[in-house]
Amino acid sequence: MSILKYKTNNGEVIELILSRTARKNIILRLDKNGELKLNVPPCLSLQSAFRWLSENEVKFSKIWHQSKQLKHARVSKIEQIWFRGERYCCSSTITDKIYWHPQQGLTLPDLPVYEQRQLLINWLKTQAQKYLIARLKHWSLIMQLQPQAMALSRAKTFWGVCRSKTGIKLNWRLIGAPDYVIDYVCIHELGHLKHPHHGPAFWALVARYTKQTKPAKMWLRHNGKDLFQLG
Ligand SMILES: [Zn+2]
Repeated sequence: MSILKYKTNNGEVIELILSRTARKNIILRLDKNGELKLNVPPCLSLQSAFRWLSENEVKFSKIWHQSKQLKHARVSKIEQIWFRGERYCCSSTITDKIYWHPQQGLTLPDLPVYEQRQLLINWLKTQAQKYLIARLKHWSLIMQLQPQAMALSRAKTFWGVCRSKTGIKLNWRLIGAPDYVIDYVCIHELGHLKHPHHGPAFWALVARYTKQTKPAKMWLRHNGKDLFQLG
């Protein structure tokens, strides 16, 4: 057995495992590990094998793409995702970008799983940039508290952070949470502009703007780790 590298017209390099045990014909098949196996008769020249591959390139590159999908199917597939407080099913189809339908869920481009994940992370971050920052601005106006800056964070250890010099940062993963949770985190962080510590005066200020402190904390305790499912 040896490895054969075949370059397609598109410039893709396809690797095949070559064995020479076929009696007469050339046999190409996909094994259960997603490897392409080319079995040729013992005396067939490499040149003839390449000629056969080039004559059958359309069919053969289709099998190769199937094999790639089979390999990536073993990386955990994204089946469900939190977005704005709902769990949506993810499905794949032939599309060039991500679509969100409130009833049907999320439709992702039919790509290998790791590419889908990256695309999904970027999409969620874009949504977070729009929605989370808008909520923060909204509460900043209502509470009459203006941070130095408003930005997203990719921290793994907090949902929000407030510093007098650098302003407020919200974890982009909060885009998975329901509105009352997002609002609570905004109010909480804005509250720190007035009261740096979690004393009675701080909680009284928070309570003036939301009655959802307890449910919001509960939601994050129960579902927070799910918001990290994409890393
Ligand atoms: Zn705090």
